[in-house]
Amino acid sequence: MAHPYHHALSSVKKWGGTVEDYLAIHSWFDASKQITADFRHRALRHHAEGIFMAETIFGTTITLSTGRVIPTRWVGEQHVQEDLGFIPSFADWVRTIRPEPWMGRAQRLELQVDPALAAASTEAA
Ligand SMILES: [Zn+2]
Repeated sequence: MAHPYHHALSSVKKWGGTVEDYLAIHSWFDASKQITADFRHRALRHHAEGIFMAETIFGTTITLSTGRVIPTRWVGEQHVQEDLGFIPSFADWVRTIRPEPWMGRAQRLELQVDPALAAASTEAA
């Protein structure tokens, strides 16, 4: 798996500056390796929404040590493209999750907390 350092080196080749200009962004994308040690960790941030999330954390643009300003999304797009070959949506990841019973075990909470709904439910039965 590509290390954030190597992604940062790739960024330097594209836009100039230093590894340090990009390392925090690339490390954020791969921080999910702390949760899952194999490539499935990418489901957490390696998608279009993850790229936009990076923008909320690092700002719309970053200023490189050279003074050049580039969109943060460019760095996110580069990272995800390098890891996956394209930029999936989160829906693309979700389609690969095999549903398990515990995932849909929600109770009818509204009947427990809303007396009017509970009474209406009893009357309808
Ligand atoms: Zn990655």
